[in-house]
Amino acid sequence: MNKYIMAFDAGTTSERAIIFNKNSEIVSVAQKEFSQIYPQPGWVEHNPMEIWSAQVGVAVEAMTKAGITADQIEAIGITNQRETTIVWDKNTGLPIYNAIVWQCRRTTEYCDTLSNLKDLIRQKTGLVLDPYFSATKLKWILDNVENARKRAENGELLFGTVETWLIWKLTKGKVHVTDYSNASRTMLFNINTLQWDDDICEMLDIPMCMLPTPVSNSEVYGESAPEYLGGSIKICGAAGDQQAALFGQKCFHKGDLKNTYGTGCFLLMNTGDKPTFSDNGLVSTIGWGLNGKLTYALEGSVFMGGAIIQWLRDELHMINSAQETEEIALKVKNTNGCYIVPAFTGLGAPYWEPEAKGIICGLTRGVGRNHIVRAALDAIVYQVHDIVSAMEQDAGCKVSTLKVDGGASNNNYLCQTQADISDTTVIRPACVETTALGAAYLAGLAVGYWQDEADIEGSSKDFTEFKASMDAKERKDRLKGWSNAVSMLLK
Ligand code: ADP
Repeated sequence: MNKYIMAFDAGTTSERAIIFNKNSEIVSVAQKEFSQIYPQPGWVEHNPMEIWSAQVGVAVEAMTKAGITADQIEAIGITNQRETTIVWDKNTGLPIYNAIVWQCRRTTEYCDTLSNLKDLIRQKTGLVLDPYFSATKLKWILDNVENARKRAENGELLFGTVETWLIWKLTKGKVHVTDYSNASRTMLFNINTLQWDDDICEMLDIPMCMLPTPVSNSEVYGESAPEYLGGSIKICGAAGDQQAALFGQKCFHKGDLKNTYGTGCFLLMNTGDKPTFSDNGLVSTIGWGLNGKLTYALEGSVFMGGAIIQWLRDELHMINSAQETEEIALKVKNTNGCYIVPAFTGLGAPYWEPEAKGIICGLTRGVGRNHIVRAALDAIVYQVHDIVSAMEQDAGCKVSTLKVDGGASNNNYLCQTQADISDTTVIRPACVETTALGAAYLAGLAVGYWQDEADIEGSSKDFTEFKASMDAKERKDRLKGWSNAVSMLLK
């Protein structure tokens, strides 16, 4: 009887279930989108019951499609949209409010009042004080839902991020846990001691009895109740989406780095067994805890990644599809001196100029549409490069390879230019479902489906490699041009 691992990918817009075999190949996949709720400008919510039912639905569908039964699934691993906050009644199993999604900015003003705690929060949690993380979202629910704090203090309410919620539901309330990577995104978790932080909980008036038990990313948490999936299945792995992608990209060693080129770009670097605190505004986070060993990561993001290509398509009508940008960029030898700095929503790491606006510069009569499209792709590359450089400085080591995934990583021009500008080898795996794969690996390791990291590395060797081939002078000149363009935006 063939055996498999099933990953639940609980994303921001859809729930997916993906079944993998031992060669890390996808055997079956099912997906269901769920509602996005926008009660006010800047507010984003999900219905936790819809998340739960969609997740069970796709799991059953993925199994049915491939004719796979529960006894053939050795383990379930979960990866999820991070920071999204759910509070539910322990007795009824019903949420007391919608999930407040990571994108939701409703606690911005409250965060402003905490600015004197910035350094403390950074030292303890590795994070920058921001409404993005779970802590102030949880506080908002306790402050705004009638009787919530009192009920929480009485032990009637539970808190969790999405993996916690799904594990609790799957085990019918038997298991209330969060994995270290998700815990490290709550802004309540001390990443040095691996415990919920009493001081922060006290300052935010959060009853600690409602917090889940922090656990490693790969161990048997519990079993799904038999009625959901046609039999019990062990739940053995969980990680936040970006950390799961880091694991799925096999970034197992210090200095290994992955970038996801999606709407925005997410870079994570494995920084080894101790947290590295950034001088460049990057976030320190837990990668994973595995076999009693912790791996930390530095994280940086680019707000406008593939989104600049969407803008060329939807606002400028300069292209018909994102895919054609590769061919268009290759029609010209260079951008003819044109640079785009896509600071549409300010400049993030390592510049931190929130009020900056974007520019297109270096325009002459020689610059045409093809040059501008090429400059847009290059802008993604330069922004990623800036974060790679910041990480190298913070971690004190040189990046040797950059593993890539996400929609825009299909663009060969983009990958080659990244290799050239960052003077590194860019590796794009054939299976770009790295997030789900990471969760599957974590679960599979817990039950011996894969023995260890070396076994995983051997399980899939199919990838495309882009090697740096630009001469040093050209690289230097182009980076100088970029830095001049950025400097036009700095105060
Ligand atoms: P997300 O998960 O953030 O929705 P995806 O990983 O699906 O994003 O990637 C989609 C983004 O990548 C879009 O912004 C799109 O413009 C861009 N994109 C997709 N394909 C290409 C391509 N071949 N070249 C350049 N950009 C692309």
